[in-house]
Amino acid sequence: MLQNEYLKRVYEEVQRRDSHEPEFLQAVLEVFESLELVVDKHPEWEKSGLIERFVEPERVVEFRVPWVDDNGNTRVNRGYRVQYNSAIGPYKGGLRFHPSVNLSVIKFLGFEQILKNSLTTLPMGGGKGGSDFDPKGKSDGEVMRFCQSFMTELYRHIGQFTDTPAGDIGVGAREIGYMFGQYKRIVDRFDGGVLTGKGLTFGGSLARTQATGYGLCYFAAEALKHLKGESYEGKTVVVSGSGNVAQYAAEKCTQLGGKVVAMSDSQGYIYDPNGIDLKKLFDIKQRRRARISVYADEVPGSEYHEGCRNIWNVKCDIAMPCASQNEMDAEGAKALIANGCMAVFEGANMPLTPEAIALVQGNGLLYSPGKASNAGGVATSGLEMSQNSIRMSWSFEEVDEKLHGIMKNIYKACYDASVECGRPGDLMVGANVAGFLKVAEAMMAQGVV
Ligand code: NDP
Repeated sequence: MLQNEYLKRVYEEVQRRDSHEPEFLQAVLEVFESLELVVDKHPEWEKSGLIERFVEPERVVEFRVPWVDDNGNTRVNRGYRVQYNSAIGPYKGGLRFHPSVNLSVIKFLGFEQILKNSLTTLPMGGGKGGSDFDPKGKSDGEVMRFCQSFMTELYRHIGQFTDTPAGDIGVGAREIGYMFGQYKRIVDRFDGGVLTGKGLTFGGSLARTQATGYGLCYFAAEALKHLKGESYEGKTVVVSGSGNVAQYAAEKCTQLGGKVVAMSDSQGYIYDPNGIDLKKLFDIKQRRRARISVYADEVPGSEYHEGCRNIWNVKCDIAMPCASQNEMDAEGAKALIANGCMAVFEGANMPLTPEAIALVQGNGLLYSPGKASNAGGVATSGLEMSQNSIRMSWSFEEVDEKLHGIMKNIYKACYDASVECGRPGDLMVGANVAGFLKVAEAMMAQGVV
């Protein structure tokens, strides 16, 4: 429970206004619990209503997205863009296409994005958007028509100096391509920096596809070395999800000497005691866009189990949740602890429930929050924008090296802030405080806006 009167008052007001937004309330409370350690040192924040302004998005856009399916039926989805905070740069954050998308989900993601972007040290504010459209099972033509309709409204709210969306769940290279094409057609300008995650032939950055998963492992390797004197070498790893983040987290941790034995999708998980064959997995997910159960049909010695949440019952040294919010609850955390797991590194945004975080931290496991350990994706989106601005492309190695350096710096910033807060090694406190202080300073300098 919050102790600080100012934070308590603001949180109660958020609860009153947004009682129907559970994910958003969860994200705000987690951040406030960390800010309790610094708020007393800054009486000027309360005077200028800093925290009240920080929790309120600068702008929320909600719109209709009509499109026609392959059978000629008209369908209508709901689109969102939450432009949360532009104190340190233009709004930046992904677009999510998934049936579970609603305003609460987009607000929690946008709120987290403010702190994440601040941690990257790049000049990017926080935003997020998406739709309850489900690309799964849709033809390419249907996805294209949906993306074109979505952009036909969104285009008026974005721009390389105002708001620059990217991908997230359900939005990969295909969707970004269709949206960029429609944006360019409407505005009649090639504004490369307006969307990131673009294809390599039209302004995309090498290593952007890999960046979130690779960055997660760079961060994790740094934390393991510094706080536990350990590495991925010889460790058994469980990675939930099998999308963009999970695939490249699995690839990088395998390169670093770990053995990934389980991965999942929203229906179930696969277990392969020999280590997941990533070439096979990439083929199933990237080329065939098939369910993960196909892996067990085709790889001898592997198993498929229904129910994605049971993946945490698989014994491992390191767990990397890379699917979606609240995918690991107290039961999952207890199973990991009972099996002797040493670390949980979040690849997804807010994948652990508050109860799971308390259990993981309370039992001495190393824990990193997604806003720090998955920041490599948006950091490399920032690098994509830099390349677009200077009209040059860096090599894969150059981008990867910059990403590696950024992740090391994010780890250091989180650790240093945890020490300053009197909680050395608490990377959740470190990430929230380090990310917030920079935004707070910028907001204070810019007056009440
Ligand atoms: P993808 O759409 O590529 O993959 C998502 C994966 O998670 C799929 O395997 C999907 O299974 C599974 N999944 C989705 N929803 C659920 C759910 N409710 N329960 C269980 N599994 C689920 O998305 P990304 O890999 O891009 O994103 C994964 C996470 O990482 C998200 O939290 C995202 O916000 C975060 N993230 C992504 C970044 C990026 O650069 N892409 C950057 C930073 C964070 P199925 O196919 O069955 O739906």
